[in-house]
Amino acid sequence: MKILGIQKQSLIEYPQKICTVIFLAGCNLRCPFCYVPSLVLQERIKKTEPISENEIFSFLKERKNFLEAVVITGGEPTMNPDLPEFTKKIKKLGYLVGLETNGTNFLMLRDLVENKLIDYVALDIKHKFDFEKWNEGTGRVLTKKMYENIKKSVEFLMEEKIDYEFRTTLVKEFHKIEDIIEICKSIKNAKVYYLQNYEEKNETVSGRKFTPFSDEEIQRIIEEGKIYTNIKPRPYLF
Ligand code: SF4
Repeated sequence: MKILGIQKQSLIEYPQKICTVIFLAGCNLRCPFCYVPSLVLQERIKKTEPISENEIFSFLKERKNFLEAVVITGGEPTMNPDLPEFTKKIKKLGYLVGLETNGTNFLMLRDLVENKLIDYVALDIKHKFDFEKWNEGTGRVLTKKMYENIKKSVEFLMEEKIDYEFRTTLVKEFHKIEDIIEICKSIKNAKVYYLQNYEEKNETVSGRKFTPFSDEEIQRIIEEGKIYTNIKPRPYLF
């Protein structure tokens, strides 16, 4: 695993806990509006000096009395076969562990949950459940197998064996209001479903600029969507 970043303190990435966020390199998707090209594109990853695991663990040991949780994000963290070992070491220090994932590695997600190596999951729902829409929204690299895995991950989280959230980044070029309502219907009674609006200032994987939704449109989605699921707006996290 290649650790490319650490946000030493965050109050919003893990619900109600002070946490550290660790950024891992590499992703199997290429969402055009993705705002972390430095963690996704190989040519960018190669140019960045990684942070050693030793450095991470000395920091976590030092801050044990202050921090409560560690959130692992990317890129796509589950692309790393050594992720379970890494989370095990973090848990041994007494931290709660959160995982942010695109859901394509269902087996690893299930094993991490069943072996109690993580405590919270945030999973991205890129679009309504239609393969073509998802493929378009993830840079046309999605395979049918990945798509099936994502659906299994969503269903698995809804069994509530672990605390979780779903989230969608709203992008005008990819989503219509009706698409998001469709998502709400598919994740009926989900624990929580956050909408975060695309931010124009972000750098993107495709190098293109996109369009956010208006506040009025988001409000309309929330009003309609809350009939089906626990939908909430949320400001951009990074
Ligand atoms: S937004 Fe898409 S490309 Fe970016 S890290 Fe997440 S899954 Fe990968």
